[in-house]
Amino acid sequence: MSEVKKNGEPLEDSQATVHKKEKHPPGLYLLFFTEMWERFSYYGMRGILTLYLTTAFISGGLGFDASSAAMIYGCFTGFVYFTPLIGGYLSDNYLGQRKAILIGGVTMAIGQFTLFSSQSRTALYIGLLLLILGNGFFKPNISNLVGQLYTKNDPRKDSAFTIFYMGINIGSFFAPLICGTLAENWMAVKEGGQVISYGYRYGFLAAAIGMIIGQLLFNALAQKYLGDIGKYPATKDKTGHVVENKPLTKKEKQRVTVIFILTAFCVFFWAAFEQAGTSLTIYTKDFINRNVGGFEIPVSWFQSLNPFFVVTLGPVFAALWVKLSKREKGDLTVPQKMGMALVLVAVGFLCMVGAVLQRGGAEDMTVKASVIWLIFTYFFHTVAELSLSPVGLSMVSKLSPPKLTSLLMGVWLSASFIANLVGGVIASKLDSFGHMQIFGGIAAVTFLLGLILLTVNKKLVKMME
Ligand code: GLU
Repeated sequence: MSEVKKNGEPLEDSQATVHKKEKHPPGLYLLFFTEMWERFSYYGMRGILTLYLTTAFISGGLGFDASSAAMIYGCFTGFVYFTPLIGGYLSDNYLGQRKAILIGGVTMAIGQFTLFSSQSRTALYIGLLLLILGNGFFKPNISNLVGQLYTKNDPRKDSAFTIFYMGINIGSFFAPLICGTLAENWMAVKEGGQVISYGYRYGFLAAAIGMIIGQLLFNALAQKYLGDIGKYPATKDKTGHVVENKPLTKKEKQRVTVIFILTAFCVFFWAAFEQAGTSLTIYTKDFINRNVGGFEIPVSWFQSLNPFFVVTLGPVFAALWVKLSKREKGDLTVPQKMGMALVLVAVGFLCMVGAVLQRGGAEDMTVKASVIWLIFTYFFHTVAELSLSPVGLSMVSKLSPPKLTSLLMGVWLSASFIANLVGGVIASKLDSFGHMQIFGGIAAVTFLLGLILLTVNKKLVKMME
């Protein structure tokens, strides 16, 4: 039944559409759950990877020394964000997003099974390579499908990507807990309370099963909830004839340039943010007082703080973007949101500076800083992440010319490729440069970049129009 005003007249078309458009299409939730399982698989295996690499062979690991393990971990977490450039290109031109997601998901499941199949370095390298390749097909295309559920400039897009992002983080919240517990506890072989051998392989098995659940769900329900979206490559029609072969217009080129500029700023954001797995973890282990009422919080648990904050704050942000978009002057602009994110990540690092100051440069390892500093750091980093990461996905889907959408999603993700490599180098200087210099330096650089972005906001917005 059509909607009517109180006086019985039908609502103006646009009003009725806006009203109906408040709800998100069910396809969003299919993509939400598919990505949730994929990220469960990714973060589950990533969470036990370093332990698997560094544990002695006889204890169920591969016996790498710490620096080789760090190198393998850094290259793996970097290169999973390089291949989306390739997967994005192939999807735009030959495959279409749905097929690319299937190829990616199956390749990653085989990769996880390979890790499970044998406790050997050969299986490790083959498994990691398959995961890197598979992610390249999967990651840019699933994000792109979210955007395709909406018209190009639908005001619900930022909110939709924020909801999708919560799926990512529900997966990454539970993954280390489940895969880690399997690997380190349930499947460990113990004798007299002593661990003889860990069950890392079973952690990888759980990751493989998660990936398969996601794929089954996606392929069984895609036709029902997505219809024809993502079935064909953006450049071709059903019959395989090229439909998008016009050169880019001046305006389109400007928009693509904005994607590159903002991606470049975000490299610095991610390099700072990714310190969570490296310098922040090392600092937490040695210098944060983790003792709460006689209980020592394990270092790895702090990794769940970020996904926890994403899931709890996500709904607030999803609603906020919709609310702001209804103001007369509209939502905040993308460069404003990202500029704020860079400033907030700096505020997070200032909290770490607070921790360093509290310890007062003491050599004594028994002098610890309060855990509150760290909690605030992760809080600010998550607020920053929510203003940048889902917003970036949404921005790419709005600004990309149709024939380049998946490739440009790959470009956006490649910021994490460079950031993981750069972030690793920064973290490796923690001891030689000192904590104050590293945390303070990161805060200063990201703060400055945030201010620059806020300053050039108008210019970028003009290019985006
Ligand atoms: N936490 C995000 C994810 O796993 C990061 C994505 C990115 O680096 O852009 O999807």
